[in-house]
Amino acid sequence: MREEPLLPDRVRARLISVLPDLPVKAAALAEEEALFAGLLASAPRATLSWTRSDDEGKQRAPSPFLRRVWRERAHSELSAAKVPLASFAPARASDPPRVELAPTETEALAALARGGRSAFGAALPEVLAAHGRTPQDSRALARTRLAVLAELEPERARPAYPNAYLGSVGRRVHPADGRADAPWVSTLEALADCPWQMLLGRTLGLAPALPVRDVGAVLEPAHVGSVVHGVLARIVNQRGAQWPDEAGLRDLCAQESRAVVRSEHIAPAGLGRLLALRAQGFLEVARRIDALREGSVRAEVEGQLELAPGRVLRFRADRLESPLEGGELWIDFKTSRRPLSDAVKPDTRASHMHKAIGEAKALQAAAYALAHGPEAIGRYVFLHPLIDAERRAQDASGADPEVRRLFFEAAARLYEALEEGAFPPRLVAANLVHEHLGCKRCDYRAACQVGDSGMRTRTVEWLRGDRHAAAQTGFAGALQGLWRLKRPPAGGPA
Ligand code: SF4
Repeated sequence: MREEPLLPDRVRARLISVLPDLPVKAAALAEEEALFAGLLASAPRATLSWTRSDDEGKQRAPSPFLRRVWRERAHSELSAAKVPLASFAPARASDPPRVELAPTETEALAALARGGRSAFGAALPEVLAAHGRTPQDSRALARTRLAVLAELEPERARPAYPNAYLGSVGRRVHPADGRADAPWVSTLEALADCPWQMLLGRTLGLAPALPVRDVGAVLEPAHVGSVVHGVLARIVNQRGAQWPDEAGLRDLCAQESRAVVRSEHIAPAGLGRLLALRAQGFLEVARRIDALREGSVRAEVEGQLELAPGRVLRFRADRLESPLEGGELWIDFKTSRRPLSDAVKPDTRASHMHKAIGEAKALQAAAYALAHGPEAIGRYVFLHPLIDAERRAQDASGADPEVRRLFFEAAARLYEALEEGAFPPRLVAANLVHEHLGCKRCDYRAACQVGDSGMRTRTVEWLRGDRHAAAQTGFAGALQGLWRLKRPPAGGPA
């Protein structure tokens, strides 16, 4: 690795504080070395090779990493004459001796798999033992792998559930289980959307499997949402709900954007300026709405709602307003492009809200209202600059019996699924034809059965059967409840 003469590492190191994205070349090399060492340490045996000549026959040198490994192992300098040729290299008269490369464990297992499931099971311990394991370890590992295989590739007649890879986790048995005693309402909404995604992301706290080249390279709508929410909270908490002038608002946006860039590792850091600019459009809308407000306001207010004895839900509202005429207005700001309802007529908007509550897409506003009595309103406020004014506010009233019925039914089903440990991946849309809408942009595709035709077929068959099945209890009932939120059984509600 050669340093750039115009900008050597010692200069780059000094510039880091003002140009955080400027790479220091020596640091990149150290990282590559660490990755190479990690790669070698991750397998019981590794074959290292290099191409000895290019297409024109010109000699190629082995990489410095390879030379170092040779030096450490063989205590001499690596040269082409000292190592055998791989068996697949084209033959030449002056070649040194050749070696047959031993099949890797993966190749041996693949060959074994061609013999069918029972032959695979019978010979698996032997293949595992041939790759550096004791007979006892090999037998134990073979048992485990065959059990995993039985779940991943079940017999054709086996129904979709229960299956660990389709989210059948079971009830809590360990005190450190990640399922919270009093879940957040937003957790139930995520559970309704895709239970498996919720389990991986929220309960297990797994980081999405993003390719390294994509980390931090894009601004997500959620980043803009974080800046907007951060600024709105600071205006209430630090400025007594008094909006700053234009320059002050720009400054607040810049501060919040920098915080999001840091916490989300967004690179290059200059994207923070773009983030701040995008947030300003949403905040201008919020400023106009706020100019009409009368009465007091608090930000980031938490509350809870009891669904049934021992079943508590928590929530956090972006704002709690107390209008002069009385009552309470609990607000959740949204930055999505589409409002909950495109309708203008109040009745149609109310029926869209009811549907969204019944499908657990809009539990938050209903929870706010139901926790604080008939005088309370839960409201979504959509701040996207391109949304029409009459579609911005979407209310759920604590006095609306339909809001109450739909909310308690949906929340009870979801709570049941949490307790029973039913987290099936959505895999298919309610019409059983298309892929679930959320799969396309899901960060957890790599850890999901999405794309596995066998698992999808089993899921669809189970859903077809459930269309006419009687309501069940326990784990099976929890699964039914989850799916029937989106796909009611034939002949009426579940
Ligand atoms: S890919 Fe689809 S089914 Fe799988 S976790 Fe994501 S949203 Fe759920």
